[in-house]
Amino acid sequence: MSPSASKAILITGCSTGIGRATAQRLARAGRTVYATARSVDAIADLERDGCKLLALDVCDEASMTAAVRAIESAEGAVGALVNNAGYSQSGPIEDVPIDLVRKQFETNVFGLVRLTQLVLPGMRAQRDGRIVNISSMGANFTFPGGGYYHATKYALEAISDALRFEVAGFGVKVVVIQPGLIKTNFGERAVAELPEAQGDGPYAGFTEKVAQATRDVYEEGAMAKLGSGPDSVAKVIEKAIDADKPKARYRVTPSAHAMIALRAVTPDRGWDAIMRGQFPQPGKS
Ligand code: NDP
Repeated sequence: MSPSASKAILITGCSTGIGRATAQRLARAGRTVYATARSVDAIADLERDGCKLLALDVCDEASMTAAVRAIESAEGAVGALVNNAGYSQSGPIEDVPIDLVRKQFETNVFGLVRLTQLVLPGMRAQRDGRIVNISSMGANFTFPGGGYYHATKYALEAISDALRFEVAGFGVKVVVIQPGLIKTNFGERAVAELPEAQGDGPYAGFTEKVAQATRDVYEEGAMAKLGSGPDSVAKVIEKAIDADKPKARYRVTPSAHAMIALRAVTPDRGWDAIMRGQFPQPGKS
């Protein structure tokens, strides 16, 4: 690795939550940070922390290309990419309109893949780079009503595993972060994305319960106390960027460790029984 290799960090989804906390933490530590969001207005204040700002929508090819070009012309290459932008398109598998399913994959998976493809030539040329993909504890188990979101995180993990092998020889390291429950706008958006519960529809009671369970976990219930703030993830992202030999996966929060361990030792029928204790099963009165 050349000492002159670019260490500039590109982060997606910095308007709120984990992306914002990561941009602030790294910029305040004196790093070169390109904070990005769909709307630059939403991140204008990050300039005071020392961030450079760019518009970037992970569903828009032109904005991704322009952002990567801007960084490459200023820095030579993107040194580290933090693929953070994402949301949960919650809802029953049968009920979520297919265009919204496509949008979910477009944002959480294809956007991440495309941006990775765009930064890799620069990283390979300088034989140094790091790609940090924000997955979830939910890449290890699935809650009913969250099938599509979990599917995107499982997909991201498979892609990261393949990529880690494929680019290691070029000096590029790939890391996956698996946060547990983090208090951000995530829960509110997941509830907002639920398909409207039809009063007499087959999933009405179920969808309402998914909304309530999400609110309980993120905002109101006893579970919400288990949640950590976004800086707990930002700290681990910093470690993943800085470590000479980063781990392939970092789990963040006690809830992530506990839930992943529980699922690993629970047979599928046992898991379904636990879920029946949490959610009304559609089709059963
Ligand atoms: P937030 O809702 O606070 O932040 C999500 C960010 O993603 C926002 O900045 C949002 O921007 C951005 N985003 C959404 N769509 C796009 C798009 N098309 N292009 C660019 N940016 C976009 O949630 P979190 O900070 O919690 O989520 C960050 C990541 O962490 C996600 O990948 C999520 O899956 C993951 N995660 C979160 C957990 C949690 O408990 N909070 C747990 C495990 C993983 P905008 O304001 O424009 O919508």
